[in-house]
Order: sequence, then C-alpha cells, then structure tokens
Amino acid sequence: MLKFSLLHDKLTYMETDRMEKIVSLAKRRGFIFQGSEIYGGLAGTWDYGPLGVELKNNVKELWWDFFVHARGDIYGIDSAILMNRKVWEASGHVENFSDPMIDCKKCQSRFRADKIDINAACPECGAREFTSARAFNMMFKTYAGPVEDSAAEIFLRPETAQGSFSNFKNIIDSMRPKLPFGIAQIGKAFRNEITPGNFIFRTREFEQMEIEYFTAPGAWADAFDYWRGEMQKWMAMLGIASLVSEREIAEGERAHYSKRTVDFDFEFPFGREELYGLACRSDFDLKQHTMASGVELAYYDEAAKEKIVPFVVEPTFGVDRTVLALLAAHYSEEEDKKGGKRTVLKLPPQLAPYKVAIFPLVANKPQIVEKARDIYSSLKKNISTAWDDRGNIGKRYYAQDEIGTPWCVTVDYQTLEDNTVTVRDRDTAEQKRVATGELTHFFREELNRPTA
Ligand SMILES: [Zn+2]
Repeated sequence: MLKFSLLHDKLTYMETDRMEKIVSLAKRRGFIFQGSEIYGGLAGTWDYGPLGVELKNNVKELWWDFFVHARGDIYGIDSAILMNRKVWEASGHVENFSDPMIDCKKCQSRFRADKIDINAACPECGAREFTSARAFNMMFKTYAGPVEDSAAEIFLRPETAQGSFSNFKNIIDSMRPKLPFGIAQIGKAFRNEITPGNFIFRTREFEQMEIEYFTAPGAWADAFDYWRGEMQKWMAMLGIASLVSEREIAEGERAHYSKRTVDFDFEFPFGREELYGLACRSDFDLKQHTMASGVELAYYDEAAKEKIVPFVVEPTFGVDRTVLALLAAHYSEEEDKKGGKRTVLKLPPQLAPYKVAIFPLVANKPQIVEKARDIYSSLKKNISTAWDDRGNIGKRYYAQDEIGTPWCVTVDYQTLEDNTVTVRDRDTAEQKRVATGELTHFFREELNRPTA
C-alpha cells in the first residue's frame, strides 16, 4: 500500500498498483480524462472520452431496458436540474444536507469531521489546532435571472429523487397508474464534496439512476424485499455480484424518515465502499411536499374508495460508480506469448464500447481492404464496430482486448475465395470461420445470450 494522489484530490490509501493501472488505461484508451485537464484540472470532475461515453451510455440503456421498458409499472421522466428552492426546503436539504466540517486554524484547510481525528496533526501543514465542527451545506448554489440576491438563489439538484416526487401528481393525472407503480429517472446531480477522490468514485458532478416505487403503506416491506432481488439481478447482469456485499443500516444510522436501508458495498481497489442503496423513505417526501406546496400528493384507491399517501421504496444507483465497478471487476491481466503481461477488459459484451473490430489481414492488398471495408460499413449500421489496420494481427487483438471488444473479425485471403472470415473470441481466444452474410445474425445471437 502506497500513497496515491489524483490531481488536487486528497491523498488516499488504496491498492495503488491496480487502481493506477485502471486510471492509466482509462486515460490512455479514451475512457476517462481529468476534467479541465489543460488548465491543471478541476478537483472532483472527470470527462468521459469516446470509449467511456459508449460504456456509460450502454450502462444507462441496459438499466432503462431492464427497469423501465421490460416492465409495465415504471414510468420514466427527465426532470429539470434547476428546481424551485422550495423543493429543497420541503425535502429538508436546505436545513440538513450538510457534513460537519472542521478547519485547520493554521492553514485553513477544511476536512470532514468524521474523516479526521481532532487530536491528529493537520494532513496539510502538520499543525494540531482545529476549529470545532460546523455544518457545511453540500448543495451548489447559483442564481436564476440577472439579480444575484437571496430571492434569486437556487440550487443544482443534489439528487434526482425530488424531481420524481414533485411530478407525482403529473404522473397520476397523465398516466393513470395503478398502485404499486414507480417513477424512474436518470440524470445529473451535484454535491459540493469537501474531499472528492478515488477517481470517479466521489465527484462533485455525477449521474444517478433512481426509482421511486410507490406502494400501499402496508406493503412496503414486501416491496423492499422484491427490489432487493431486482437489484441483485442487475448486479448479476453486470458480472459484479460476487464483489458486492449487502449491509443493513442500523436504525440510529439511517436517515430519520427511513424505515429500512440496505447498502450494497463493492470491493473497490481502494477498499469496500458504497455502490448502490435501497431505502424505504416511508411517506415522508409526499407528505412534506403536500404540506409545503398546498397540492395534495395522494393516490385514490378505487376499490377502497379512499385516498392514501403511498410509501416509497427507493433503489438508487450511481452511474459513475457503476462504470468504476465494471472497470475494477473486469480488469484482468493475462500472460502474453512472450511471458509478459497484457490487459484484458472482460466487460459483458452488451456493455463493451465496441462489440466487434474488423481487421484486414494485410493493408497492402486492395481486394482484402475493400472487402473488410464493406463488412465494416454494413456491420456498424447495427452493431458498434471498430476498424483497425495498423500493425500485426496479434497486436490488434491485444489492443481490442484492452478496451473490452468481445469479437475480432479478420478478413484474409480465404475470404476472397469462400466469403468467410475469422471470428476470434476475446475471452477464450478461440477462432472460427463465419460466412460474411451471417455476421450480423451471429453477433446478434451472441449479444442476446444471457450474461449471468
Ligand atoms: Zn493545516
């Protein structure tokens, strides 16, 4: 274990070697870059490159397919990041969304009180005098309109959930759902973390995938168990389930409105940390917004002829943490032919940035290059496909393995004779001949294979 630092982020102890390799691979191959890198960066921000955005979009698409499209009881929305500040007053964020912070009296560095021993030396300057703990609100403030006064002060949302609660009545009125039903949303959220760090694990700008699932008050416990199972299925699809452990949060440590909370912790290279969460938020949010807005947020139960305020069970997923968990879980090193090491990113095929790479065996034989170009143009209409004609075939295989491409297609001399190509599998290195006319069908079948 060595000290490892990223940009201006605070020093963190982690399994340096593996984490450094993942960060380095992410930069070198176009997955993830430092935010504002040419200006020395901006702490707690990261930019997704060409391969990273494909991986991230695939995660979001798979999530939406599984939790929205494949079901009949979940309604998707995309609510605004900027909301009336009364939303955050009602939700309790203005008053309570804060961390206790202490400042070093000598160098004024600020630390989370729960992360530092008050008797310890300042990690920045070594002084041993801290202020007492003070609350620091983690919401980003900004102003709506030209006047920068307190009346115009609004916040960048610190979670997507409140956009779902504030649209509860709109969903009831427009979609006429039957209880139980859910509202799902994927979107950005912002938290002014004092100590961002561990690459894309704790950042100031991040993306969430959240479901607010509304049930009859007496049915929340069953709904909780059900959603725990659905989350387990999701983690199995990602191939990360074996690295996740579930942690029941004790009553005293839960949010005051929570009836039950289970955290899903992942074995990251820097230690075991929260990946996902599942909470029963009771009827707290709907009641708070009813009280604060004067608009009744309730469900009319036709059978019982009465209005009820549903309980909500909330499965919540971080997009960026999912990407990091995928990189960490599927990063592997294998021996190359010369006894050295090479990297294989064993992503589930559905999530890989490219599904297929097309290689002409040689770059100087026009018929082969032309044939390969034809296959490339035709395949990429339906399937994310890469092209590579540099270096020898072995090197091209390794380069695709490193970014997780599940299949490589080589167009060679035999292709010109019988219209077949070599398809090589990333994980087994097995090769088989497939007719060019069958390729789209072949990959479709492979991609539909259940991953778990
Ligand atoms: Zn100090």
